[in-house]
Amino acid sequence: MSIVIDKVIAKAKQKDHDQPEFIQAVIEVMETLKPTVDKHPEYVKAGIYERIIEPDRMIIFRVPWLDDNGKVQINRGFRVQFNNAIGPYKGGLRFHPSVNLGIIKFLGFEQIFKNSLTTLPMGGAKGGSDFDPKGKSDNDVMKFCQAFMRELYRHIGADVDVPAGDIGVGGREIGFLYGYYKKIRNEHTGVLTGKGLEYGGSLIRPEATGYGATYFAAEMLATRSLDLKGKVCVVSGSGNVAQYTVEKVNQMGGKVITLGDSDGAILDESGIDSSKLAFIMDLKNLRRGRIKEYSDKYNVPFYSQKSVWDVVKEQGIKLDCAFPSATQNEVSKEHAEALVKNGCFCVSEGANMPSTPEAINIYLDHNVLYGPGKAANAGGVATSGLEMSQNSLRYRWGREEVDARLREIMKNIHKSCLDAAEYYGKKGNYVMGANIAGFTKVANAMLAYGIV
Ligand code: NDP
Repeated sequence: MSIVIDKVIAKAKQKDHDQPEFIQAVIEVMETLKPTVDKHPEYVKAGIYERIIEPDRMIIFRVPWLDDNGKVQINRGFRVQFNNAIGPYKGGLRFHPSVNLGIIKFLGFEQIFKNSLTTLPMGGAKGGSDFDPKGKSDNDVMKFCQAFMRELYRHIGADVDVPAGDIGVGGREIGFLYGYYKKIRNEHTGVLTGKGLEYGGSLIRPEATGYGATYFAAEMLATRSLDLKGKVCVVSGSGNVAQYTVEKVNQMGGKVITLGDSDGAILDESGIDSSKLAFIMDLKNLRRGRIKEYSDKYNVPFYSQKSVWDVVKEQGIKLDCAFPSATQNEVSKEHAEALVKNGCFCVSEGANMPSTPEAINIYLDHNVLYGPGKAANAGGVATSGLEMSQNSLRYRWGREEVDARLREIMKNIHKSCLDAAEYYGKKGNYVMGANIAGFTKVANAMLAYGIV
């Protein structure tokens, strides 16, 4: 019956041949759904496999704004509302010059399954713009965010579509976006998540993706009676996800020795402890500087124009666990081979689709504990879901309560992946488990609605 899936993939390739990241995500998910075809003829009859790869709607819009020099700037804005079968659309906004429709579609597609895995009622969506906040003044960023929201506001709502942050969209940007939404709609609702604590944000939301990816790694390690104590860990990126991965790995007794940004990577074999992490947070979140400054301050090597993965490969760095936390396709086949060769036995993805399909095959062939992004980084959106619940309740849970719920959700996601993988005959395969567990819930909801 895999012919059904092959046909879906062939059609996607033909229709969206100019969207390589989206096709990559479709192939990765669809290939692992093949065992569901025989067990669920009703999905085939209702065209679920064809329908789930087609977004409900895609909105593309012009974002005109005046920069500090009085010059007119034009960016392109996107919101892809992919699937709301199990709840309002939910997914982040990415501001990065590489953003295009294919990237937003791949992220929105992944988000459907990730959100389903969290057990919370959230559909899948993603949005963003080719705007680059890097090097811009606060005033330019505010002007852009206001112009972006001037169009986006008509497509979102607390029960319709609830965006959040992603690459290039952190607390500052969410503040500007929410402030403008509130102004033009004259309502104070949970329409965005990742808000500041003073105006409806949830405790632990900034920490959630990095903490969650670390909790997921801990769950995977526990299946081999291991934990993070004393483990040498490699983390890429130095943004939101990377920072809180370092914090949680430290708290769980591990040692992180790398970080990076788009200019290069640093290697600190003595470990990035809490005071060095405080320096990174100030550098990246307030001063908005470059990672090279870390190497100057702590007198450690900086590898210009190299990724963390290049450094592991070229310097033969020994490690136990890897946390890719920067961007898609950052870990190639050669990188994965070097990881395995250098001792890595656990990969927990904080970023979305950071490993190429060839890299994933290397992990699976070498029995690496591999947590794919849609499971391992689901703690971020799960805590966004908890922020939505608190907004609806007009109530705020304490830090310990949210963290405990996050930990429990990550445990449950881990278990659902393992259960689904075992049920479909691929014990221990988290890729297949995550895709199938996420998919079946959405597919059953779509079936209930009939052909819509
Ligand atoms: P940030 O913008 O806070 O940080 C991104 C980091 O990755 C920066 O250090 C950035 O360097 C680096 N980076 C981005 N693009 C590239 C590139 N093309 N090459 C090299 N380095 C790059 O983003 P987040 O930490 O929020 O997101 C990181 C990843 O995690 C993304 O894949 C995102 O989709 C995923 N994710 C995020 C969630 C969240 O809650 N924030 C939730 C789930 C997944 P530089 O500053 O130089 O660009």
